[in-house]
Amino acid sequence: MALKIEMFPALQDNYGFLITDAASGRTAMIDAPEPAAMLRVLDGRRLDFILNTHWHPDHAGGNALIKARTGCAIYGPGEVRRIAPLDHELKPGDVFRLGEAELQVLDLGGHTLSHIGYYSASDTVAFVGDTLFPLGCGRLFEGTPEQMWASLRRIIALPGDTMLYSAHEYTLASLKFAESLEVNTALKARGERARHLRDETLPTVPATVAEELTTNPFLVWPLKEKDLAAQAAKFGELRAAKDRF
Ligand code: ZN
Ligand code: FE
Repeated sequence: MALKIEMFPALQDNYGFLITDAASGRTAMIDAPEPAAMLRVLDGRRLDFILNTHWHPDHAGGNALIKARTGCAIYGPGEVRRIAPLDHELKPGDVFRLGEAELQVLDLGGHTLSHIGYYSASDTVAFVGDTLFPLGCGRLFEGTPEQMWASLRRIIALPGDTMLYSAHEYTLASLKFAESLEVNTALKARGERARHLRDETLPTVPATVAEELTTNPFLVWPLKEKDLAAQAAKFGELRAAKDRF
């Protein structure tokens, strides 16, 4: 593993991530949820970059303060400028180099229009922000079901053992919705594991692409449909049902 990942809770139910390239010692925070929590984790270590996934305040709200305190450079999608400074705009298809580690910028629009994710093929990890959660997915605040479904398909196209680092701990709520649809053996086992973890206030993040493919209702049900349009429609139905749940 070239990347060291330190995950920490922030705000109500966010996760922050401090990643370090072992070879160069270069560091980056994925998003800036809460300055106090971020500074605590840094504990005096230098921070080179913030890599934003989207503009929402629980992701980019800490940009200005952390930049002032650490001198880090801020990279992210252009939409972040709505609330926070941005030094370099990233676009899907870009590769961000953290020392010797390479992070591919994924188009994960839907939750917000230009939400992006960061994927390291060599470390088999992806930071997916508010796009996919264990057993759940982000709300469609700006995008359409078609856009979000295309983004989810980019995530599930990654190797099955890719660890997905989601930006919130929403799993127990997502589990209840999943159980309201159908409980199969895989979901039952995953639900039990999740409840045990949360009983001890341990994170259910990260989870693998393979786990989501077998149990996440926002993937399982749409993927039963035969073409893209039907899949996106089914996804949209489920997302709307979850919003009312
Ligand atoms: Zn968000
Ligand atoms: Fe969020």
